[in-house]
Formats: sequence, structure tokens, C-alpha cells
Amino acid sequence: MRSLTVVSGKGGTGKTLFSTNLAWLFHQKGVATQLLDVDAEEPNASLFVQFIPIRTQPVEKLIPHIDESLCDRCGLCMKECQFSAITIAPKKMAVLAPLCHGCGLCARLCPQKAITELPKTIGNIRLGKTQEGFSFGEGILNIGEPSAVPVIRQLKNLAPKDAQIRILDAPPGASCSVVESLSGSDSALLVTEPTPFGLHDLRAAIAVVSEMKIPFKVVINRFDAGSSEYVEKIRHLDAEVIATLPFDRKIASVYAEGKLVVKELPKYLPVFERIIEAIGRGFA
Ligand code: SF4
Ligand code: SF4
Repeated sequence: MRSLTVVSGKGGTGKTLFSTNLAWLFHQKGVATQLLDVDAEEPNASLFVQFIPIRTQPVEKLIPHIDESLCDRCGLCMKECQFSAITIAPKKMAVLAPLCHGCGLCARLCPQKAITELPKTIGNIRLGKTQEGFSFGEGILNIGEPSAVPVIRQLKNLAPKDAQIRILDAPPGASCSVVESLSGSDSALLVTEPTPFGLHDLRAAIAVVSEMKIPFKVVINRFDAGSSEYVEKIRHLDAEVIATLPFDRKIASVYAEGKLVVKELPKYLPVFERIIEAIGRGFA
């Protein structure tokens, strides 16, 4: 199975538009396809495909619990926690669950063995298929939880591995969640828009995929007559633009209705065909 992660430096750039349309088109071509929405803080790919959930599984994080009768208030756990999730005072101690990332370090370090870890549900994953017939999964992080990484990891692990292509719709930005989404990917598709902000965020996304040594290509969304200079600017970032999708109100309206561009506006089919051809060449 080959995997392609669709990334953008910021939200609202068109990541889900490309992920869902590419998944549908791969499936139409007879390629066994899987689409995973790993944007667990705001999953929305299911709005564009008719998702039929078959299996739901909670995602748990281990939260430390301190046994006050064993703790001698040495403060080591508080000092070493990178997320300031533990407070130890002479008369009071607390684990701030919303800040805790469940890394387990405090329990391993405690000299008195006063810390045990208790599971807490932080989200869910849902696996199934679409009405069109391809495999689909999504991660949903509970509100207030600090990190989607465990949800993304579990979704990637539990999703069936029998597809020929797995497309991951990543969270926006360049955070740990994006790194976890990209981890193990064969290639990445970076979605940007022809604006100074778009270019700025694209730089951050390129830095992440380059650091992870993942081959990537760029697509520009909302391209218009004045956007050509951006192709040149992106080339100077050592990146290749393989397709552009024009700025067109009809695309925005199709997207707003939860429909697929490749189905509703066939004149844009060649844009997605070009991307699929490039994926087939392995982004080499
Ligand atoms: S490391 Fe253990 S003994 Fe020390 S303050 Fe933390 S819980 Fe208490
Ligand atoms: S599990 Fe990790 S993040 Fe949570 S309190 Fe312990 S050291 Fe801090």
C-alpha cells in the first residue's frame, strides 16, 4: 500500500477538497482506495463522501494518578514534565489532565513509585466505507484535549491495510499532529494558495516534509491571472507545482454544498488527473 498525505500550512487552503476528489477519482479508476481524515480536531472529509461507519473505537490516554500516601513531595515529576501538567506543593498536589500528554515519563521517574496511570478516553476513531465503495476512516479528538497525536496514530494503525493507495487528509499547520500524519508516508501533496500568507505557510510545510525526507509536490488552489509569479516563487523553494485549480465561484459553491468538483464540474477533471499521474510516478 502506498500512502499520500495531503498537507497545507494553514486551514481553509483546500486540503480536504483535494483529498476527497483524489480519493473518489482513484476509486473510479479501479484503484483500491482508502481515505483517512486525520484532521482529528476538525474532521470534515465525511461531508463530501457518503460515509457508512462499520466500527467505532475509543482512543485512550494514560493519565497519572498520584498516591499521596506514597509521595514524599520531592518534586521530580513536576520538574521533568515538559507540559507543566503536575503541581506539587507541601499541602496540595494535582495532575492537570487537560495539559497532560500521557507520555508516562512522570510514572517512570517517580522514586517512590507513587504514580500509577489510569486510562482516559480522549477521542474516537470511526472506520467503514463510503457509499461509493472505498475504505474510509476518521479520527475525532474530544474538545479540550491538547494533542491529536494518539488519535491519529491509532487511526493509522487500525485502518485496514489492504488498499493500494491510502490518502490522508492531514491537520493544517506544521504541528506534532502534522508530523504524525506524515510519518511513514511515501509522498506528500502540499496545497497552497497564491498569496503572501499562502507562500509563508507553504515554506513551513516544505520545511517539515524536507526534514522528514518525504518526496512532495505542490498544487495551487484559487489560481487566477495574477498568480503566475507564485509558481516562480515556489520554484525558488526547490518545489515543483504540478497542478493549479482556478479561482472559480462554481468550485466554492460545489464545495459549500458538500459535493465533489470532479463529479459536478468535469471540466476540472484534468487537474486531478495530472496529480494522479504524478502520484503514479512516485513524485520522483
Ligand atoms: S516524583 Fe513521585 S514522590 Fe516525587 S513528587 Fe512526584 S509523585 Fe511525589
Ligand atoms: S504523563 Fe507526561 S505529560 Fe502527563 S503529567 Fe506525566 S510527564 Fe507530564
